[in-house]
Amino acid sequence: MTIVLATQNPGKIAEIRDLLPAHWNITTAHEQGVTEDIPETGDTLEANAEQKARYIYEHTGLPALADDTGLEIDALNGAPGVYSARYAGANKNNENNIDKVLQEMGNTSNRAARFRTVMALIDHRGIHFFKGVAEGSIARERLMGSHGFGYDPIFIPEGHTRSFAQMSASEKSNISHRGKAVRAFGRHIEGTAKQ
Ligand code: IMP
Repeated sequence: MTIVLATQNPGKIAEIRDLLPAHWNITTAHEQGVTEDIPETGDTLEANAEQKARYIYEHTGLPALADDTGLEIDALNGAPGVYSARYAGANKNNENNIDKVLQEMGNTSNRAARFRTVMALIDHRGIHFFKGVAEGSIARERLMGSHGFGYDPIFIPEGHTRSFAQMSASEKSNISHRGKAVRAFGRHIEGTAKQ
């Protein structure tokens, strides 16, 4: 069995690969010759995950697994949500996206937020979705560590005092949005293998 990860994000690739059995053949879009950005123009996580998985399925003919993730902040009415990757507009990158969140939040005391992941698997049988949510709060400044990516330095998962960036990969994945979705995907594959 071969599954292509429909992402060019090295952080996502590392987290997903780490969670799946080593004997599964988990390859990437890049390794399959797709080097361009994979289009994601939808208005929902589901639509983006489906669009990315379909793009890779059609380009490679192999089962494709996509991940679309959003950071929802209550005090910002759910923003940046599905627009998390493009939050800083033309200057979008991790640093500018974080700066914009911290600026928009200011000193607000309601720091509640969550990461939401939707994964889509497309193969010859059709489409399956797998989901995961991690509740937490937005730090008042970056809590830097040597791990993670994206918004990790400002996200403190519920029940913890350290940010995702200050946790090891396995500590993050045990409780993260992506960890939950990938484990659901793994159970699905194991279930279909038995049929
Ligand atoms: P997308 O799912 O590729 O559209 O990514 C959405 C945005 O959220 C990007 O800016 C990512 O860097 C960021 N992101 C995705 N997953 C995570 C995560 O697990 N931690 C922190 N940031 C993330």
